[in-house]
Amino acid sequence: MQVLDREQREFAERAEEVAADFAGEAYTWRGDMPWENMETLADADLLCPSVSAEYGGQGVSDVAAMLVTEAVGRVCPDTGWFTYMQSMVAPRAIDLFGSETVKEQYLPDVTAGEGHVSIAISEPEAGSDVGSMTTEVTEENGDLVCNGEKTWVGGVPFSDAAVTWVRFPEGLGSIVLDLTDPGVEVEQEYTNMAGYSQTHFTIDDVAVPESHVLTRGEKAFKEQLVSLNWERLGSSVLTTAWAVAGLETALEYSAEREQFGRPIGAFQGIEWKLAEMYRQIETAASTVYSSAAGASEQGSHSAPHRLQTSVAKLHCSAMAERVVSEAVQIVGARAYQRGHPLEYLYRLTRGRRIAAGTDEMQRNTIARSLKEDGVPAVSER
Ligand SMILES: Cc1cc2nc3c(=O)[nH]c(=O)nc-3n(C[C@H](O)[C@H](O)[C@H](O)COP(=O)(O)OP(=O)(O)OC[C@H]3O[C@@H](n4cnc5c(N)ncnc54)[C@H](O)[C@@H]3O)c2cc1C
Repeated sequence: MQVLDREQREFAERAEEVAADFAGEAYTWRGDMPWENMETLADADLLCPSVSAEYGGQGVSDVAAMLVTEAVGRVCPDTGWFTYMQSMVAPRAIDLFGSETVKEQYLPDVTAGEGHVSIAISEPEAGSDVGSMTTEVTEENGDLVCNGEKTWVGGVPFSDAAVTWVRFPEGLGSIVLDLTDPGVEVEQEYTNMAGYSQTHFTIDDVAVPESHVLTRGEKAFKEQLVSLNWERLGSSVLTTAWAVAGLETALEYSAEREQFGRPIGAFQGIEWKLAEMYRQIETAASTVYSSAAGASEQGSHSAPHRLQTSVAKLHCSAMAERVVSEAVQIVGARAYQRGHPLEYLYRLTRGRRIAAGTDEMQRNTIARSLKEDGVPAVSER
């Protein structure tokens, strides 16, 4: 596959060079933020490539952020995960839709690799059904006030703020919520299967400055969709990177491990597994980069197409789980032990079939798009 232009290829090569230094401590983070790696990426101008240059980014396309996520995620899955979170999720929404005040307040720390902003969408009674959320921002005596609760929010122990989806009187929108505000109270810190914290917090009469409103009114939903679709492509490229990490571990092991007098990689049963793993990775990567290329041609405010984005998210999350599971199979009992990179990778990949829109919700979107718009024409490829 050669779909990158020269500039993108050079960008990816630079990311690969920097990422190579993360190999030594890969698989040791498990629940921690790899701050030193974030700073290394920031120093190399690789951390938030699509964030505007005034706030420490590079002002280039989201495809660059995807390339860094993939290059880093192959070597160090945790650093890849945070690269994705920093470059394609909440900080990107602040950059796209925020006031000068919030951009200046939150982005320079993030782009320097010293800060983090979470994304808070889910509520105890509103998971996939985002439209039923009840966290609201109301106007009281001319001031905006937020009340409600959010759950499963990642990265809260490292974050100063969360891009928070809310209900305004006129419909859904989003704000930047300062997590240090006294009205924000952590109810419970869960620890997920991969060892990361996910937080349930309540929001009680928190004043929201006008400058902290990100999206509101008629355009709000469409704008949120732009960042959500890019987030889903970021998730897709991250899971593709994790699948590559699984394949490489299995490939290396199968060349060394001998049974019946020869390396297991010499048995056709194993060769075919490796070939099948790569086939799945290659088709996933093609899907995700072709969706991104289509959208980035139209500028950073354009959303990747919902049909292609959902296909990529669904395909890549499921593919990564299957590929990593096959890698566990090839390595056998060693890979099944706590502390082995593959058992960790397996737990990590499992979450992506739920996070950023479940498999089932992606299928719903694909079906809705087909029913409303039909099967895309050849000229739409
Ligand atoms: C690793 C991880 C990280 C996360 N990080 C964050 C975060 O940072 N911020 C945040 O806000 N949230 C986060 N989440 C939460 C995530 O967004 C939700 O888990 C997700 O939206 C699904 O909601 P739910 O878990 O409540 O499941 P539910 O919506 O209750 O769904 C349960 C099951 O029913 C299925 N289902 C629901 N509706 C339908 C339907 N119409 N048709 C078919 N099937 C359906 C779902 O697909 C799922 O299988 C994270 C989750 C995970 C696993």
